[in-house]
Order: sequence, then C-alpha cells, then structure tokens
Amino acid sequence: MFKFLEEEPFSPIKHSYEVEGILHREKSKFQDIAVIENRFFGRMLLLDGIVQITALDEFFYHEMLTHVVMHAHPCPKRVIVIGGGDGGIVREVLRHKTVEKVYFVEIDESVIRVSKQFFPEVAQSVDDPRVEIKVMDGAEFVKSATGIDIVIVDSTDVIGFARTLFTKEFFDAVRNSMTENGMFVTHTESLHLHKDIVIEMQEKLKGTFPVVDLYTATIATYPGNWWAFAVGSLKLNPRECRQPFEIETKYYDDEIHAQCFLTRKFYDKLIKRQLKW
Ligand code: SAM
Repeated sequence: MFKFLEEEPFSPIKHSYEVEGILHREKSKFQDIAVIENRFFGRMLLLDGIVQITALDEFFYHEMLTHVVMHAHPCPKRVIVIGGGDGGIVREVLRHKTVEKVYFVEIDESVIRVSKQFFPEVAQSVDDPRVEIKVMDGAEFVKSATGIDIVIVDSTDVIGFARTLFTKEFFDAVRNSMTENGMFVTHTESLHLHKDIVIEMQEKLKGTFPVVDLYTATIATYPGNWWAFAVGSLKLNPRECRQPFEIETKYYDDEIHAQCFLTRKFYDKLIKRQLKW
C-alpha cells in the first residue's frame, strides 16, 4: 500500500501523489525540503510541501523558461539565473555556446546541495567554470549587476521570500542591469487558476519594459497545468527567434517558439480583462 502526499499548492486545487518512499527531508534556514519517490514521476523535489520538479518531466519547464528568451536575443553572453536551486535552468542556459558567464543566485544553499545529491542530471552544470554561485536574495544581487543580456527568474511561488522578485523595484533594477537588447523572463503561475496574477504581472512589467509579452507551456505537476511565462524586453520582440536552432533539447524548438505565444487577439482581450473564467 502506498502513502499519499497531498500538496498544499498556491491554488484552489489540491494534487495528491503516491509516495513510494521519502528519500530526504530537512528544514533549511528558509524552507522544508523533501525528496520523494513516485511510481510515475520518479524523484520529486518539494519545498514547503509544493512540487518544484520531477525527474520525469522537469525538461518541459526548464527548456521553456530558458530557451525562448535565449533564442530571441541575438547573442546572449552574460546571464543571471535567480532561484532555480535544482540547477535545471543553469543546465539549459549553458547549452548556448555564446554564454560566457552565468550568475546563479539562489537564496537557499541547501536546495543546491540536495539537488546535486538526488537530481544529478538536473544539477549537472552548476559547477561549470562559467557559473558563479551567489547565495543571496536575487533582488539584492541585481541592484549592483551590470552588462547583463538575460535575466531568468525560476523562483518559488509569489509568496514568502520570493515576493521580492515580483515587485516594480526589482523589475527596474533588472532593467538597469541590462545591455541594450536585454530580456527578462519569469514564471507567472497558471493561466487557468491565477488569471489575475498573470494579468497583474503583465501590467507591472509594462511599467518597466517597452516590450512585454506572455507565452505558455503545459506542465503536468503545476496546478492548472497551463503554465504562463512573462517576458520583459528592452527593445526586441521575443516572438522572433534570432538564433539558429542548434542546441539539443527534448521539447523546445523553433516551431514551439513560434507556437507558444498567445494570439494577439486573445492576449489583448485577456489584458483588457474582457475574458471571464
Ligand atoms: N521550477 C520551480 C517551480 O516553479 O515550482 C522552481 C524551482 S527552484 C527550486 C525555486 C527556488 O527559488 C528555490 O530553491 C528557492 O530557494 C529560490 N528562491 C525563492 N525566492 C528567492 C529569492 N528571492 N532569491 C533567490 N532565490 C530564491
């Protein structure tokens, strides 16, 4: 008989997962960290009872959060990854040969350690010489950063200590850290379940970035499944792919890039709050 884990997500829907075993559990300075084994998803990383990644399908999320802006930028060299303690975004960023420097800014060192131990395939690149690990709040780090081409936020939900990463002050600091073609991307919850948060994020980004957009991907273990990603760009339209598609991926490619954005009509109706659901 399996035990079940009931996730306490930031949403009106509760997911329940079979637990074949608890491989690790600790309380860090910031959060409760658990690694469980599930028959279907394999190993799963949970922070404060909320699923962060699963061994089976982490690539959908990591590829989609990383490669859209990395391909929309003409030549990304200096990148900041905020959060993402499991290392999945850093792994994807380093697939790009143009990248010279990655600042990996994770507030909780324990997440990096646990991920290296239990998710070596995800954390495989965190010790790459191009990566500089900074254990601190990402909002503090960007205040003094300069010459950055891409900023990627892979944080926990818009609650608790991740809150600093969803403020106008943070977005302004990101913009000020960037080179002329700079682009920013963050996850922005579920379009089905958190429509108001998705819209508010677009509105907030418009106060800082001249070009703002939204794309989506389907993720099995995130509540609502229809996951949204918000982009802020200093100049260039993120819908356009400016790099040849040459890297090895499982899901993302140049066709996905073209398909993942909302249609203009749907986007406009959404942002004007003309859609009820
Ligand atoms: N893909 C995951 C998701 O959306 O469920 C997120 C994965 S990653 C493990 C999230 C990381 O963001 C956590 O390890 C957490 O410690 C980190 N984090 C949260 N707020 C942060 C902040 N203000 N600065 C830096 N890292 C932060």
